[in-house]
Formats: sequence, structure tokens, C-alpha cells
Amino acid sequence: MALPLGNLVLHAPTVPKEPGQRVVTAGARVVDVQRPSKDVAIVHLQAPAAAGLQFKAGQYIDVLLKDGARRSYSLANTPNDEGLLELHVRRMEGGRFSTHAYDKLKARDLLRIQGPYGTFVLQDSAAPIVLLASGTGYAPIVSLLRTHSVAIAQRGAVLYWGGRQWSDLYAVESVPSWQAQFPGVRLVPVLSEPNADWQGRTGLVHEAVLQDLTDLSGHEVYACGNPLMIDAARGSFTAQAGLPPEHFYCDAFVISAA
Ligand SMILES: Cc1cc2nc3c(=O)[nH]c(=O)nc-3n(C[C@H](O)[C@H](O)[C@H](O)COP(=O)(O)OP(=O)(O)OC[C@H]3O[C@@H](n4cnc5c(N)ncnc54)[C@H](O)[C@@H]3O)c2cc1C
Repeated sequence: MALPLGNLVLHAPTVPKEPGQRVVTAGARVVDVQRPSKDVAIVHLQAPAAAGLQFKAGQYIDVLLKDGARRSYSLANTPNDEGLLELHVRRMEGGRFSTHAYDKLKARDLLRIQGPYGTFVLQDSAAPIVLLASGTGYAPIVSLLRTHSVAIAQRGAVLYWGGRQWSDLYAVESVPSWQAQFPGVRLVPVLSEPNADWQGRTGLVHEAVLQDLTDLSGHEVYACGNPLMIDAARGSFTAQAGLPPEHFYCDAFVISAA
């Protein structure tokens, strides 16, 4: 915190220019829960269409817990008028909501939600795009890909998706089959603790970007997931590859309990 000594003018490029969206609080019914990996649950929710929850691709909602605590989850699906929402929740050992979601949540359960929030949305630009995800940071990125497929393909995009092991990339059966869903987008999986038979890229996901793209001065970067990855990517892309800081868009999955 800082104590201002006089009137201030703030330059806040991440605050949207559009007037605020209406934030809605609603009960949402669980439609189904899929568990594509040993720690990721894909949860489909149905909010009442009458609640009028209108989100933009890349935004998130809060799940409201009984004691007033809240947990944020990015929306992975495309905006729609029916109140359908898709969340990708990674189970964190000892975590209050994510263990419940992975271990127990089932169809017809009711969750109280609030949203939409966030400014992680596709910018109006022709610049080529680098998408960067760690773990369930894939959720808002797949929402952008599903919603803006034509624009993103025209601009050209590459997704670097990092995990410890192949199973962490829970939405990829094979690179060619993933790429067939998103024409114009190249997928680069990057594993930090791969099995011995892994022949792809290894190490930290943001470092793989820097190895491939030494000049990011004309790009836009959309990064989502682990806050440490986001900080490392922002710092190194701007310092080493000339990315203008205002072209780094991100949502960091900061943990409320921490
Ligand atoms: C904008 C935003 C979007 C997000 N989107 C997603 C998303 O799409 N998918 C996703 O998986 N996550 C997302 N997150 C993270 C998510 O909101 C939760 O933080 C995460 O799921 C953990 O919640 P939890 O209730 O399971 O864990 P918590 O109960 O919050 O605990 C988190 C961790 O802290 C430990 N812990 C808890 N209490 C203590 C304590 N007193 N002392 C020490 N350790 C403790 C727990 O063991 C656990 O490992 C997002 C976060 C933000 C801010």
C-alpha cells in the first residue's frame, strides 16, 4: 500500500474500456464431471439461463463456499445464452474445494457461483500469438481457441503447454489429433519430469518459448496457470526477447489459502 500525497491519475491498461459487465450470483447445477487424468476434473455446470450470466472467452467465475470463502475457476467453453459453463479443476492435495470437486462432485449437485470476472480476453490485433499454459491454465486458453478459432488461425498461433508428465496435458491424445481440432495453431508440449521414453521438449515451458522465438517484439503473449511460471515468462520475455510488457496478457492461478 502507498499513501498518496496528492491527486492521482492512474494508467491501468488492463482495465477494460467497455463499461463493466453485470456480475451475476446464481445456483448452478452440475451436469457431469469427467476425470481425464489422475488429478483433473472437467466439470460442466448449468446456471439458470434466466440468471443472464454472459461471459467473454477467457474470463472466470468464483465458486462460493458455505462460509463465504471463494475459489476462482476459468471458463473453458464458449460464451452461450444457455448458462452452460465448463471448469477444469486440478486437485490440490489438502485443497478444500479442488479435492471435493475431484473426489466427490457428481451430477445434480448444486454449486453457488458468481461471475464473470477477469480481463484475460483476446485483443483486437493482427499480431501473431503465443499461448502459454501450465496445467489447468489450459482452460481459458481453450475457451479463446474455441471461440476465436478463425481470428487466431489467421494471426497464427502456437500453444506451449507445460506439465510434469504427459498425463498432465489432459486434453491431448496426440499432437496431430489436437492440432486437427484447431487449424492454424501449433501445439508444443513441454514436460518438466518426463518418463524415459518421452522424445519431445523438456524443461520449463517458458524457456521452450525463448529457445524457439528469440524476437517477440511483434507478438502478443497470453499466459495462464502457475503464478511462478507467469512471473518468469513475463520477466524473461520482456527482458530477453523484446516483448512489449503491455502485450503480455495473463491470469495467474493465485491460491487463496496461501
Ligand atoms: C483468476 C483465477 C483463476 C483460476 N482458475 C483455475 C482453474 O481454471 N483451474 C484450477 O485448477 N485452478 C484455478 N485457480 C486456482 C483455484 O482458484 C484454487 O486456488 C485452487 O483450486 C485450490 O483451491 P482449494 O480450495 O482446493 O485449495 P485451498 O483450500 O485453497 O488450498 C490450496 C493449497 O494450500 C494448502 N493449504 C490450505 N490451507 C493451508 C494452510 N493453512 N497452511 C498451509 N497450506 C495450506 C492446501 O493443502 C492446498 O495444497 C484459479 C485462481 C485464480 C486466482
